[in-house]
Amino acid sequence: MRRTCVFFHAHRDDEALLTGGTMARLAAEGHRVVLVVAAAEHAPSGLDARPRGQVRTDVLDAPAHVLGCERVVLLGYEDSGPDGSALGGFSRTKVELAAEEVAEVLREEQADLLTVYDPAGGYGHPDHVQVHRVGVRAAELAGTPVVLEATVDRDLLLRALGPIARFGLLPRARHAYTSRGEITHRIRVRKYSATKRAVMAAHVTHRLCGDSVCTFTALLRLPRVVFRLVLGTEWFVRRDLPPGTVLHHPLDRWPVPVAQPARGRRPVPPRAQPEPEPEPEAEPEPTPTPAPAPETRPQPHPEPAASTPSSTPAPAAGV
Ligand SMILES: [Zn+2]
Repeated sequence: MRRTCVFFHAHRDDEALLTGGTMARLAAEGHRVVLVVAAAEHAPSGLDARPRGQVRTDVLDAPAHVLGCERVVLLGYEDSGPDGSALGGFSRTKVELAAEEVAEVLREEQADLLTVYDPAGGYGHPDHVQVHRVGVRAAELAGTPVVLEATVDRDLLLRALGPIARFGLLPRARHAYTSRGEITHRIRVRKYSATKRAVMAAHVTHRLCGDSVCTFTALLRLPRVVFRLVLGTEWFVRRDLPPGTVLHHPLDRWPVPVAQPARGRRPVPPRAQPEPEPEPEAEPEPTPTPAPAPETRPQPHPEPAASTPSSTPAPAAGV
């Protein structure tokens, strides 16, 4: 069954690392993939101010085209900055107001699935936290059945950071993203690593990612096999599933609608859906590698560390 999957991101380049492989995979499987971006920032001046909700289909959306997106909606808010100080920034918008804008897209699309970020907003950028609040509320308003929180395996991240994290040099890392026990979806996207590379290249070519150009450029210099290993898994949380659930496809274990009992009759409990078959392309857990360390990034909107002192480069996710 063809599903419509809406990916809600804070900034124009966030989709590339956190969910790019999953988007490409769903599009390749024939599902409709839609990208909604809250703040059209990280772009050269002149691209930021645009009417709310404008649908872009020109060459500047080449990255989304590479991912297989059939529609891109830019809500047109300003980037709040890493400290949320920007007046008029997305993080300062009333949740109900922005949620109604996103809900409108969800209704138009009759969306089956919406992705947001985890409650911490990953590493804590105020706009990412706001994407969680706004997205969750929008799904409630529109009745979207499945909400996935895009995140990173925090345990893997701390292991990758090693002594730096153990000695408390990166205190925020201990609360960033999501603990392994809460993660319900581990999506293998190594097969789509070439697409992720192409998306980053498109962002760099069209300079849609501003300060992230350096990060993406560094990642693109990685040997393909290393790139595939480091960026080959994407993580999500679905809060309506019990802890300990581990799924390997975003559309696995679709929720069963609760049957409305007929008057005078006892309600019939929904039948459980069968467990999905294990994914054939399952691959071993990615080797711990230095992952995003926001405190080490000087950019206004931190992105993954471009390189490390050792031979193990690159973050698994950096938004
Ligand atoms: Zn961002």
